[in-house]
Amino acid sequence: MTSEAPDVGLQIRPYELELTEPFETAQGTITTRRGFLVRVDADDVLGIGEAAPLPGWTESYDACQEALENAIDVIDSGTAAALEAVEETPAARHGLSLAIADRYATKAARPLYQYLGDGSRVARVPVNATVGARSLEETVLAATTATGRGFRCLKLKVGSGALEDDLERVRRVRAAVDEDVELRVDANGGWTYDEAETALETLESSGVAILEQPLPAGALGGHKALRESDYDVDIALDEGLLEHGVDAICDAEAADVVVLKPMALGGLDVARELVTWLTELDIDLLVTTTIDGVVARTAAVHLAAAVPDVRASGLATGDLLASDLGRDPVVFEKGAAVVPQAKGLGIDDIWGEP
Ligand SMILES: [Mg+2]
Repeated sequence: MTSEAPDVGLQIRPYELELTEPFETAQGTITTRRGFLVRVDADDVLGIGEAAPLPGWTESYDACQEALENAIDVIDSGTAAALEAVEETPAARHGLSLAIADRYATKAARPLYQYLGDGSRVARVPVNATVGARSLEETVLAATTATGRGFRCLKLKVGSGALEDDLERVRRVRAAVDEDVELRVDANGGWTYDEAETALETLESSGVAILEQPLPAGALGGHKALRESDYDVDIALDEGLLEHGVDAICDAEAADVVVLKPMALGGLDVARELVTWLTELDIDLLVTTTIDGVVARTAAVHLAAAVPDVRASGLATGDLLASDLGRDPVVFEKGAAVVPQAKGLGIDDIWGEP
């Protein structure tokens, strides 16, 4: 060896995980999550990452695989060259950059979130439960089941059926759970401006704290107008962040809250940069997964732990998978994720497991 930089090994392994039930995405219904485990290895220290492409949010599965294989081809030139090979493919970049960060944090014997954040100790981060777009009775049952399990924040999916039915679901859930349980609704861009404006009256009177992505991703001006209406409900953008980026959202004053999906953004480091920027602009943040395996879910927990005053986040998504990549190091209790304090991600070496 002539260089002081260690030789870095890079490997990927495909996986496929069944969902417990079909899940609606903007690109159609999915029944499985397919992706890649990513492993880097240097100086006998391992790092693990996960690339879980989700069309509509990231590159395709094939493009993800190709980008990761390109990274393998150039890894001998160093991790910077490998990261460059996945620059345009967010899921692949998430997987590789996570493996690199996990290895660094493991080598430094610190939990990953401390490596990402200001180094202070964070014991837990608040989480929400998500209630799908179901019938009235099923919605109320799912909501009370979640609060019975300790969740203190519920997010109801709306926007796929009739507006009045959605609003009745919100009223019934409000009546069925404790007053101090935070309610949110997520329309996934499914409402028109008039529907959203009509909805705000009921949402406010039901004490809904956040209305997430009421209008299609392109509608920055419409979201700004909803913010400026007289209702005391925060407007959050999720799909809109991917479509426009932070600059445009801030210029348009279109959001009180921004949803960070590290898989769609291209990695924890990219997301962490946005955190600094958005926090300075007084925009609140929360973190969610893209229904990922345990590696990426745990990474999202670490990111949330590195966000100052993070709002309740969509991190409790493991139940949506019928099987997983390995043991889950994150425990959920009393509406919070207990943050792993072991070095790195805190995930046992799962490479050898099926
Ligand atoms: Mg959303």
